[in-house]
Amino acid sequence: MTSIGIIGTGFGGIGTAAELVTHGYDDVRLWERADTVGGVWRDNTYPGAACDVPGPLYSFSFAPNADWSRRYPVQAEILAYLGRVADQYGVTPRTRFGARVASARWDQDAWHVGFDDGTTETVDVLISAVGQLSEPSSPDVEGWESFAGSVLHAGSWDDSVDLSGRRVAVVGTGASAVQIVPRLAEVARELVVLQRSANHILPKPDGAYPGWYRDRAQRERRPIDWVTQQFSRGLDPDSTVATVIERLASAHLRLRVRDEELRRHLTPRHQVGCKRILFSNDYYPTLTRDHVRLVPHALAEVRADAIRTADGQWHEVDAICFATGFDTQDFLHGIEVTGPGGDLHEAWSAGARAHLGIHVPGFPNLFLAYGPNTNLGGGSIITMLEAQARHIRATLDRMDHHGARRVQARAEAEQRWDDRVQHDLAHSAWASCTSWYHHPETGRITSNWPGGTHTYEAAVADVHDEEFLWT
Ligand code: NAP
Repeated sequence: MTSIGIIGTGFGGIGTAAELVTHGYDDVRLWERADTVGGVWRDNTYPGAACDVPGPLYSFSFAPNADWSRRYPVQAEILAYLGRVADQYGVTPRTRFGARVASARWDQDAWHVGFDDGTTETVDVLISAVGQLSEPSSPDVEGWESFAGSVLHAGSWDDSVDLSGRRVAVVGTGASAVQIVPRLAEVARELVVLQRSANHILPKPDGAYPGWYRDRAQRERRPIDWVTQQFSRGLDPDSTVATVIERLASAHLRLRVRDEELRRHLTPRHQVGCKRILFSNDYYPTLTRDHVRLVPHALAEVRADAIRTADGQWHEVDAICFATGFDTQDFLHGIEVTGPGGDLHEAWSAGARAHLGIHVPGFPNLFLAYGPNTNLGGGSIITMLEAQARHIRATLDRMDHHGARRVQARAEAEQRWDDRVQHDLAHSAWASCTSWYHHPETGRITSNWPGGTHTYEAAVADVHDEEFLWT
């Protein structure tokens, strides 16, 4: 019986475990650094946290949810859904909570996994499901440790901090910020929003599902999926879809913001799709409120009671909320991985890469969920994670078929895959500006998949024996 260890219990870990367990792999254990399952949906509890992909699609195909209260579910109900799926598929009892993986070393045909409390466990197969958005990052600006007020981050929100009646700065204007800003504006005395880049923002076709409709809402899955496939075409700069999205976003801005100067500041300067396209109905109106101010400059310096923006202006504030994203380029952050191929982080020093986003040559019996080049510009990441889970399970089936104890991708197969992916990425919108999708030193796009979810599903549907070494 193959023993399998999975790091992380977000959508990736839960989905992969469910796939394996339902296909007869019983010796599956999971390690979770926190006390409950949920991944980013457990950690991102900032006010307004919700999904910008509709619930009927943002759920496992094998576990439809008849309970979404609205089209775009909020954080608490996504977390509750994940908890239910984890219980239903026996993931929760298989999980060791409070277990932070610090290292994984391949030795004598097994992965020896070390934890930060000094304990170790050994498994035949190791699966990383730690995600790409699990390590919050903030700009390293001068003086920030001298700030006397509260400091929060969207990715690790502290619910005990009360921002009512305070002067608050939000740093960043990405997917997290457009959700936080309207909610903080409801409680803050003054709100200053620091914008380094304006983004394309579309209206969000959101709404509460009436009780009688909830168990029927799942019927929206296929049409929503169709729309997201079209949407991902918009990432080709020459496509008609890109033009349509650009025009819609521009009309949305004109309609919601009458002040010409504010509108000018909010007009994106980059190719549509280069940064994540955002959805919000209340972000623009919030920026027009009297006590809310958009400052179109980056954060440059902090002192005890104020922040300075790149234009040299100081702004007195009592609290700083970073909505500045995640450390996305250090895949498997904080885990030392050593295989016959050496140190994984060294192997990835020019940017992470993996065959099909799942297999790394030189690292046998190691699989990645949400690995390099599997993030999306449109569509549901759950579809990608399910495709990876099926592929990992099918690879283990083939291992059994070959009577092998080890499997790893051949370097030449990985190179072919990488050439194809990087070629397509070079012609995508993402190549035209800097973003969290790029490796900071080499500029290589390591995060994103250059296509729709269906093309990825097709690419990983089969395990091609000749692409792997079975020993
Ligand atoms: P993000 O997209 O990386 O945005 C970070 C923001 O911080 C950007 O606007 C960035 O500006 C800004 N920034 C960085 N340093 C700054 C500085 N010194 N001064 C001023 N601004 C600064 O992070 P995020 O919004 O947390 O989103 C990350 C990803 O999480 C998303 O792309 C998405 O995949 C996921 N997410 C999903 C949802 C959902 O609804 N499903 C919600 C939230 C997040 P630049 O653009 O100039 O770099």
